[in-house]
Amino acid sequence: MSLVIKNLVAGVHGKRILHGLSMTVGAGEVHALMGPNGSGKSTLSHALLGRPGYVIESGTATLDGTDLLALPTWQRARAGLFLGMQYPTEVPGVGLVDVLREALGAPEADIAAAMRVEAERIGFDERFLDRALNVDLSGGEKKRNETVQLGVIRPKYAILDELDSGLDVDALRAVSRRVKEATQEFGLGVLAITHYNRLLAELTADVVHVFVKGRIVASGGPELAAELEKTGYEPYATDAGDDDSQAGGLDDLFGSP
Ligand code: ADP
Ligand code: MG
Repeated sequence: MSLVIKNLVAGVHGKRILHGLSMTVGAGEVHALMGPNGSGKSTLSHALLGRPGYVIESGTATLDGTDLLALPTWQRARAGLFLGMQYPTEVPGVGLVDVLREALGAPEADIAAAMRVEAERIGFDERFLDRALNVDLSGGEKKRNETVQLGVIRPKYAILDELDSGLDVDALRAVSRRVKEATQEFGLGVLAITHYNRLLAELTADVVHVFVKGRIVASGGPELAAELEKTGYEPYATDAGDDDSQAGGLDDLFGSP
């Protein structure tokens, strides 16, 4: 039981970003993916979910044996993959309960009840639950909204893209604790994209990956995240995979400058 990514080469809008990425996240495991701005962390999350504009050139991704890349986005979600977006999308006119009802096909009353339980668990004010999806929420409130969805949907694997951004210390602790509990409660496997070791205080990582220019350049235990906090990514700087050196293979939709 695992989310297996093998030799993934992918890009967006004619630019190759991921240069052969492999990783295996087992059920119940927490993997942290840490890397500099622009290294392609969010690209990985979008490519795995099949966001339009993202092109997979080669490689595979399977979820408990299901070929994710062959499926439309909604079926990837149905197969058990969840994305907590770095910048959650605002959807005016659509309530959280509507989204979760579509996702789960359960009666509205059950979903509303589960939403309230999950909100309470992370100290998220219930009045936010009745707003249109992410509309008029602060950055941190959006992240907590994503966490409520995670708890109600109970996916098999979750990619959490900078779940910590915008959260105050109390919210950060509550949210990371909730995600950790999910690994035990329903065997959630987590790929946590983050810049900060503080997310990993409660959400302890089994494996930490250092990700630079579209490649994993080091993997280790939690001590690696602590070390990164001190050294930054400089020791891992690499000339390989320079943005333009490996262009080609994707249609360059906007033309090269
Ligand atoms: P990270 O999440 O690690 O900060 P991203 O995956 O967001 O990095 O971005 C990786 C690279 O891809 C960056 O150079 C970024 O400018 C580029 N990029 C991201 N999205 C697009 C897009 N829609 N069109 C063109 N380039 C993009
Ligand atoms: Mg990002």
